[in-house]
Amino acid sequence: MANTELSPDAIKPHPLGVCKLCGAITYRKESLNQPCGRSSRGHRCSGSFSTASRDAGWKSCTSCSGTGKQGIVPCIYCQGIGWNLAKPWSL
Ligand SMILES: [Zn+2]
Ligand SMILES: [Zn+2]
Repeated sequence: MANTELSPDAIKPHPLGVCKLCGAITYRKESLNQPCGRSSRGHRCSGSFSTASRDAGWKSCTSCSGTGKQGIVPCIYCQGIGWNLAKPWSL
């Protein structure tokens, strides 16, 4: 994942896709509808990225005001994404 350390307090764009299985997010259009493949503890995720490119599908995280950070640590409510899915069940 790209790291935007240059402007830590900037409001981030929302992700474009979400893996329904493990919750991984992607900002890459090319990844949509592709296998997630995220590895965690030796297991590869068998899910794929669902399209979540609409602005209406996301709401800015109120805990961190969309910055993804609370002070110097990633926001725990949005996992540092700065956004939460408005309707995770509708993906
Ligand atoms: Zn996944
Ligand atoms: Zn947050």
